[in-house]
Amino acid sequence: MRRPIIAGNWKMNLDRSDSIELARGVVQGTHPAGVEIVMCPTFVYLDAVSGILEGSPVKLGGQDGYQEPNGAFTGAISMAMLADLGCEYVILGHSERRHCMGETNDLVNGKMKAALATGITPILCVGELLEERESGQTQAVVESQMDGSLADLSAEQVAQTVIAYEPVWAIGTGKTATPEQAQEVHADLRKLLAKRYNAQSSDTVRILYGGSVKPSNAAELLSQPDIDGALVGGASLQAESFLQIIAASTAEAAN
Ligand code: PEP
Repeated sequence: MRRPIIAGNWKMNLDRSDSIELARGVVQGTHPAGVEIVMCPTFVYLDAVSGILEGSPVKLGGQDGYQEPNGAFTGAISMAMLADLGCEYVILGHSERRHCMGETNDLVNGKMKAALATGITPILCVGELLEERESGQTQAVVESQMDGSLADLSAEQVAQTVIAYEPVWAIGTGKTATPEQAQEVHADLRKLLAKRYNAQSSDTVRILYGGSVKPSNAAELLSQPDIDGALVGGASLQAESFLQIIAASTAEAAN
């Protein structure tokens, strides 16, 4: 059985003291054994949050990482630096990086390889724009993002990754994909993994849903057979709502 992950993407939000307070709030909450909990603060507060998470089961993740190990790459943060600060996960290919910062599948692929080589689990984001959904291109878009971002990885490496399906039109908009819309894409992605790699990677890879997940819709989304957790933006910025989503996933795991 795939262990669900609830990951919080804080994006470029919260100052140092708010980050510490939020991390403390989540650490003090309930951490069901069947669920993996990950928090991804901004780079500059990773160290502060890492200290708060010490001794708790809550894990730390980066919001991005560069593909080169070191050198003249101004402003970049290597995977080894993330690992040094205690990151076990890194979000890669988030739609905001693809669309605001122009990241290509090739770049994301380089970052995937670097994360895996460093022992950090990449959370690879894929998702279509509203106009792509409306013109019937959802499957083609997410498949080409997945193929491009996973290029040259072995089936064993792919099995170590996490994928997040995040329809771009649902991120930060309050619009959520229906559980059926999300399940359809998750099932397509899993089928593609089986076709491109093997049954074991397809069965092992956890596919998270992201896009306006909140306490009121989490249980229904997480009850879908191919949805193995959530990547949460806005609702991860408050301990109470993030903990409620974690609780919704536990209730689901227990069913
Ligand atoms: C995200 O940042 O990945 C995300 C899904 O954001 P939100 O939950 O705010 O839509």
